[in-house]
Amino acid sequence: MGTQQDPAGVTVIGLGPMGRAMAGAFLDSGRPVTVWNRTAARADGLVARGATRAAGVEEALAANEVVVLSLTDHAAMRALLAPATAALPGRILVNLGSDTPERAREAARWLSGHGAHHLTGGVRSDPSGIGSPGSSTFYSGPGEVFHRHRETLEVLTAATHLGEDPGLAALYYQLGMTFFWTSVLGWLQTLAVARAHGIGAEDLLPHTETDSLAAVFRFYAPRIDAGDHSGDAERLSMEVASVEHVVATAEEAGVDTVLPSAVLALSRRGMAAGHAEASFTSLLRVLAAPASG
Ligand code: NDP
Repeated sequence: MGTQQDPAGVTVIGLGPMGRAMAGAFLDSGRPVTVWNRTAARADGLVARGATRAAGVEEALAANEVVVLSLTDHAAMRALLAPATAALPGRILVNLGSDTPERAREAARWLSGHGAHHLTGGVRSDPSGIGSPGSSTFYSGPGEVFHRHRETLEVLTAATHLGEDPGLAALYYQLGMTFFWTSVLGWLQTLAVARAHGIGAEDLLPHTETDSLAAVFRFYAPRIDAGDHSGDAERLSMEVASVEHVVATAEEAGVDTVLPSAVLALSRRGMAAGHAEASFTSLLRVLAAPASG
């Protein structure tokens, strides 16, 4: 039997790169760790480091009060837990897989119907940042449960509790991912054009506009919140001409134009809606009213 000083054990279910990094961080912290994964071989390295391999999901749930889930999405969680609901009462499911805010709420309702608690987590790091206080995770769900287990959660990353609504952490996570994926594709598009001209990714780094983008956000954010889309600094008509040049430059380089063409299409919708003399930020009005079909 452990003493009161012994750290509580943790179960980790789902051992992709993220789940393996998480289970590894718990092992490094001296916690007893039980693991389970559909593809059992992914647990081998962790078992070699001292983790206990559960024979099945029910055994994994029974092993510890805190159960970290690192699965593809919430549908995977339901598929996996549905045959093991007898082991759910009293468990705290820390769901660190990505999904939508509404699906996070559904997951919380479903678990609560089976006597378990649900903490939604949105991890703002790749596996290399797990175990580092420089990384952070959004959590939402019951505050009392979060605060009681904060020390355990902070083995993984710094932890911020956003509120009781289980959808909140998923929302903030998806806001981050919306920015990440659209920006990162913008970067890849830029590199495709650069590479077609023999310019490498590292060659271009000093000329990548990340600092000036932050300044753009700081300048426009208060104006957007005030509903001010005036075209005193730039106009949408100028942007359309500029994006036409971006599309044509990609064409000249023999590079795919789907991405800049989508930007052009949105901008032209802004023009058609009467925003030619307004700032490009007026495209928020276009984005808020999706085109049908
Ligand atoms: P992977 O896709 O590599 O791993 C997914 C895990 O889910 C595997 O353990 C897989 O099992 C399991 N799984 C999927 N479907 C089922 C199912 N129906 N039944 C049982 N098990 C299932 O993902 P990652 O480890 O990279 O990421 C995990 C989560 O973390 C994802 O939601 C991801 O979006 C999120 N995330 C990932 C980051 C990253 O950089 N990798 C960063 C931030 C968040 P099996 O091994 O058998 O296939």
